[in-house]
Amino acid sequence: MSDHDPGFSTHAIHTGQEVDQVFGAVVPPIHFSTTYAPDGIGNLRNGYDYGRAGNPTRTALQTQLAALEGGRHAFSFGSGLAAEDAIIRGLMRPGQRIVMGNDAYGGTFRLFDKIHSAWGVSNTPLDLSDHERVASELEHNDATLLWVETPSNPLMAVTDIAALAEMAHANSALLVVDNTFATPYLQQPLRLGADVVVHSTTKYIGGHSDVVGGAAVLGSDAGAADLAEKIAFQQFAVGAVSGPLDAYLTTRGLKTLGVRMDRHCSNAQTIAEHFDGHPAIERVLYPGLASHPGHELAATQMRSFGGMVSLQLAGGEPAARKVAEATKYFILAESLGGVESLMNYPHEMTHASVRGTELAVPVNLLRLSVGIEDVADLVDDLEQSLAGL
Ligand SMILES: *Cc1c(COP(=O)(O)O)cnc(C)c1O
Repeated sequence: MSDHDPGFSTHAIHTGQEVDQVFGAVVPPIHFSTTYAPDGIGNLRNGYDYGRAGNPTRTALQTQLAALEGGRHAFSFGSGLAAEDAIIRGLMRPGQRIVMGNDAYGGTFRLFDKIHSAWGVSNTPLDLSDHERVASELEHNDATLLWVETPSNPLMAVTDIAALAEMAHANSALLVVDNTFATPYLQQPLRLGADVVVHSTTKYIGGHSDVVGGAAVLGSDAGAADLAEKIAFQQFAVGAVSGPLDAYLTTRGLKTLGVRMDRHCSNAQTIAEHFDGHPAIERVLYPGLASHPGHELAATQMRSFGGMVSLQLAGGEPAARKVAEATKYFILAESLGGVESLMNYPHEMTHASVRGTELAVPVNLLRLSVGIEDVADLVDDLEQSLAGL
């Protein structure tokens, strides 16, 4: 065998998934035990003693995630927000400030603004494409962490990860990238200079809308080991860990991430191109369209453009509401990234918590999570619902 690095899907299927030593099971067993018998006092077998501290099924997922992000350390949590909380509490102290995109996921902003600000960590949301403003905020000593989501949710803005990593590091700040929308298959922020990658594995990584989870992943340089230790301590001491069945389901989803993403991307591209210029649509927001302001940048830092498409309806809020409730295959529901197509009205659903704030989203906006069904059926579904306006 040659010794070159295996490709993405080879890692996804084999890393952390060694054949079981006892029975030869090709799929590693799910370990439900909460406690582990040592081989005599103080003599742990393979390092496991108690389920909050460690579990082999969780380790398998963490090993797989680290490999897929091109990192060394990964920590799996009970939700994406639990992972975010561990990052903020592990890496920040009261009196410090987060600089973040003004179109971050609503739940992320709620966590920072309602929970962490009460704990003394403040936040400054701003337009991340305004590099001068980002740089000037980072010059303040209290701004120790830059939080980036790209492409963003639900406005699909694309942020230059390498440029912002450089800017953060020039000011002794850390760069965290929420890679939920892109997934490691399309974008690997650690390779572009990010210090931490965070995921809601509930979305594309789980991929089947049947498991909630989150993860933090860090790279392999000397600084990363120190940060990883702090996040590991949060995971252990706070205990917002993923349970064994959740970790298993996430691992199973991750094995097919590459093939699913190829189909999500091609379906989304077809839909974006089909409805671009449609009389009922004011604007299609998709980085795969050459007219999208982030298109060139996305082409350099992503393998392809992802499965999320947002539409602004020419008929305003009433049209958006009507279409949201009229589709057949696009199911009206929160969340994203599953095999089935989902329709979301962010203003009143995923982003209701940011209404009236600087992060509020347009009232004529629909966000589509384009699934992996046959694309002709998805196009028909949207055409029919628009025809009903
Ligand atoms: C869903 C989501 C989160 C939060 O993750 P949960 O698993 O719901 O806690 C964070 N960031 C983005 C971009 C998301 O879509």
